[in-house]
Amino acid sequence: MYTVTNPATGELVEEIENATDEEVRAAIERVHHGYSSWRRRPVAERAKIVSRAAELFAERADELAAIMTLEMGKRINEGRGEVGIVVDIFDYYADNGPALLADEPLELRSGPAVIVKQPIGALLGVMPWNFPCYQVARFVAPNLVLGNTILLKHASICPRSAAAIAEILHDAGVPEDVYVNTFASSRQVPAILADPRIAGVSLTGSEPAGISVATEAGRNLKRTVLELGGSDPLIVLDTADLDETVKATATARMRNCGQSCNAPKRMIVLAELYDEFVDRMSKHVTDFFQPGDPADPATKLPPLASSSAADEVAGQVRRAVEQGATLRAGGNRVGPGAYLEATVLTDVTPEMDAYREEIFGPVVLVFRASTEDEAVAIANDSPFGLGASVWGTDPERMRRVAERIEAGMVYLNRAGGSVADLPFGGIKRSGIGRELGAAGFEEFMNKKSIRL
Ligand code: NAP
Repeated sequence: MYTVTNPATGELVEEIENATDEEVRAAIERVHHGYSSWRRRPVAERAKIVSRAAELFAERADELAAIMTLEMGKRINEGRGEVGIVVDIFDYYADNGPALLADEPLELRSGPAVIVKQPIGALLGVMPWNFPCYQVARFVAPNLVLGNTILLKHASICPRSAAAIAEILHDAGVPEDVYVNTFASSRQVPAILADPRIAGVSLTGSEPAGISVATEAGRNLKRTVLELGGSDPLIVLDTADLDETVKATATARMRNCGQSCNAPKRMIVLAELYDEFVDRMSKHVTDFFQPGDPADPATKLPPLASSSAADEVAGQVRRAVEQGATLRAGGNRVGPGAYLEATVLTDVTPEMDAYREEIFGPVVLVFRASTEDEAVAIANDSPFGLGASVWGTDPERMRRVAERIEAGMVYLNRAGGSVADLPFGGIKRSGIGRELGAAGFEEFMNKKSIRL
């Protein structure tokens, strides 16, 4: 069942039946059929349609933001901001896709050859609720320009976002059988992956979903991109202004109510700053991130996406405290919606669950490191390797530390977020492959060698 439940109030707004197996098979046939003509359209035509989609996303930003606020509690201004990034992504691939698809001539030792870049077929996208528009854009924009077609299964709490995105793409000129939204359940995903008409799958979501999809994709030898969870380290080496560092890092952690894959979930602070950093962080999150209505632009802390998500994060905090961590701020569920107070935990040690698990909510963990080496060791002592950030005043030192961190991306003096032209993705248990930038264009591409 796909459901719309307002997380700010708990009110059930709409329920939609899952697609039947027959409907899912029909959807697969449509994207398979759509591929034969879409791949033959000149790339300039596909890019023009994708560019038109960018315009429509911009025009409908308010409508999309309101849907996200209703479905998953995103602050209304953050929703508008999310649509801004979506527009950038569609524009980036519309503008750069044709050049990125140009043939690559090669001079081999044995003579000339060329790499031509072609699509591979109909793809399945399985998408999460935390960024209902942006996650879809990262997968869909490059693949539409490339010539692949898309069957999209969105998160079951985001059916209105899913429908609105499909409508925008179709209104922009994407044929109905080139982008098909399906209200399939996750239980129907293995059958979709087993179907020979589906050439690959991209999943953004949790580790268990990634394992399940990767297993089925592997069984069926399908090309796969996995964008999974993270517990990004944020290292504070030094600062010229501690209050500014506290505010900026807290803002990065609390963005999207802490429900960002690449939020700085573990803050690692050098010993000389640690006590003061913890005190000011605890005071700042308590004073500034007060729960409120996500539809009100003045609100700083919206609900989590669902009451089950809020219960889960509150449970992780409770378990950490039971296992010996120190609660410095927050930690309580606030009703009647899916609210959790902005929370700070310290003294989390390797024996505790919180040391290794992803905490997907408004919770800051702060660790003390005596030296730069110890900070790097704590940063790397994680099953995840999505993003990371290094904060300080010495660019060379920050760069040196950045190179030692096991992660797919490291930002200096900023954390979280992403841009259309920089590859995004992780290593270790954070996933396989890249989205965005030129790298994101190549994941579902056939780089065909032709020996001339
Ligand atoms: P989720 O529960 O894994 O759901 C993601 C999607 O996968 C949904 O469409 C879900 O469908 C589907 N799904 C769940 N289990 C499945 C299975 N066994 N087989 C096939 N599909 C399955 O994740 P979420 O809670 O929506 O998203 C939060 C997670 O996503 C966090 O771990 C976060 O870090 C990660 N994330 C990663 C990135 C990145 O770029 N690395 C970006 C954003 C989020 P239903 O809704 O129908 O269950």
